[in-house]
Amino acid sequence: MTAPTTLGARPRHLLDFADWTPERLTALLDNADTMNQVLDRPVRKVPALQGLTVCTAFFENSTRTRVSFELAARRMSADVVSFAAGASSLSKGESLRDTVEVLTAYKVDAYVVRHPASGAAHLVARYSGKPVINAGDGRRAHPTQALLDAYTIRQEFGSLEGLTVAIIGDIRHSRVARSNAELLPKLGARVRLCGPATLLPADLAALPGVTLTTDPREAVRGAHAVMALRLQQERMAGGYLASLQEYADHYQVSGALLREAEAGAIVLHPGPMNRDLELSSDVADGEQSRILRQVENGQAVRMSVLYHLLVGRE
Ligand code: ASP
Repeated sequence: MTAPTTLGARPRHLLDFADWTPERLTALLDNADTMNQVLDRPVRKVPALQGLTVCTAFFENSTRTRVSFELAARRMSADVVSFAAGASSLSKGESLRDTVEVLTAYKVDAYVVRHPASGAAHLVARYSGKPVINAGDGRRAHPTQALLDAYTIRQEFGSLEGLTVAIIGDIRHSRVARSNAELLPKLGARVRLCGPATLLPADLAALPGVTLTTDPREAVRGAHAVMALRLQQERMAGGYLASLQEYADHYQVSGALLREAEAGAIVLHPGPMNRDLELSSDVADGEQSRILRQVENGQAVRMSVLYHLLVGRE
């Protein structure tokens, strides 16, 4: 008889966290510790994905996510093919389905997909029949960003259990806020989402462990981690804010606001940052900032996700 696993059924994709148990998510984060040890070695390469091909298909711009996924796959000896929408036959009218079928005919083993439309990664999973990692779909989900945020917080405090995380900014258009609101409570943290009423969708209050407030002081009071989010102006049709200055005056994560947080609180930002708008430069560069640590951890966490989906199947 095989021993019962406490991890739950193994998901084939990472599209969001719906199918992922807290135990399996914790195993992913634990494995990222091992990956970080690999990245600390003089030769930062292991053969885990040798013979496999990973396609990074980005239909929307990215710096951190694309580079770190490509490095993560290469560090584990995968072949990587990068597909950038602007330089492809999509601009000649080819559909997403035909594009994915062409790539799959080249024997791609897994996809990392970013797309401006919510749900696009699910479609790629359906069309390709291969494991798909959602690297950001519209305003819906960006699970590996939330995982690296959780990992960075855990690295600081040892566990997420009982912590409070304040997320401040353009919640409405943020897939990072949604994924964190889904993930962090599964790992035992409370999440406070904060922004101007026009950028704070009331339905998010229905998520377990999540509260909403338009008052940044209330959001930050006693928090262990404070995350600032960019105003996603590319997803705004206008009319959400009186002015950027007024937004910064009320919602900027500044030194004064941070003093309301728990002593030893850390500051996070998923990037790209608009300095002195959502986050003051002194805080971004200050001793409580873990923004570059997040970037660093992104690589190890993405290695762990690729490994989990492609190799370590029990
Ligand atoms: N890089 C994050 C994302 O792709 C956050 C942002 O763009 O503001 O969602």
